[in-house]
Amino acid sequence: MHKIIPNCLIYMLGFSLFFQSALADEKPKKSRDELAKATEVWKPVPPVIYLSQSGIPSDAVVLFDGKDLDAWESVKGGPAKWQVSNGTFTVVPHSGSIVTKDSFCDVQLHIEWKSPAKIPGKSGQGLGNSGVFFQKRYEIQVLDSYENVTYSNGQAASVYKQHIPLVNAMRPTGEWQTYDVIFTAPRFSPDGKVERPAYMTALHNGVLVLNHVKLGGPTVYVGPPKYEAHKCAPIMLQDHRDKVSFRNIWLRKL
Ligand code: MG
Repeated sequence: MHKIIPNCLIYMLGFSLFFQSALADEKPKKSRDELAKATEVWKPVPPVIYLSQSGIPSDAVVLFDGKDLDAWESVKGGPAKWQVSNGTFTVVPHSGSIVTKDSFCDVQLHIEWKSPAKIPGKSGQGLGNSGVFFQKRYEIQVLDSYENVTYSNGQAASVYKQHIPLVNAMRPTGEWQTYDVIFTAPRFSPDGKVERPAYMTALHNGVLVLNHVKLGGPTVYVGPPKYEAHKCAPIMLQDHRDKVSFRNIWLRKL
């Protein structure tokens, strides 16, 4: 018994000291508003941009304003020879694909396109075929996929031979279609290895069709794609010998 009492006293003293010190450390409680402010981030402030009447952001690079193809040239060298008319331009078959004079890396691209009237006896890849190639290599397919069956990874809004679009969002043949694409360029190490592949997200007529899909390499017709190191490069529009029209093209560098 005589041993238990001193032990109890020691414990009581210990608890008393612990609570005194805990009370001394207790800080005044923060109000709900103060706690909410602690998670507010004020910097950086996003730059203000403005939209033109036709919806072009003020920080965009306009690649076709309806007047001329000055921002473009032929892949064969020299001026782009596609036909400009009424605020649009149209592929001149066999004149060659066209590329932007400037090179780009990561971009948000807006482009509008229109398939020519259906041609009796033609179908599949033979109807309104063109393409938007990022960095001259990575194609989102342009095709008249309105009531026109072809392989799914080759229809409109596919990453050609790599990714099938989530839905077919085509308007009828002859109506204007829109693509809004976010392209993230691949990154390469100094020794040419892929550090990060390319990615693509796309809306077709405002509908999500490609959701951050990973690209296996440049677009190829035959065989699997394979990356080769490259730098920023032009946007290319494909002359697939069909009279596809384009208008209202702009991009934002990301
Ligand atoms: Mg094509």
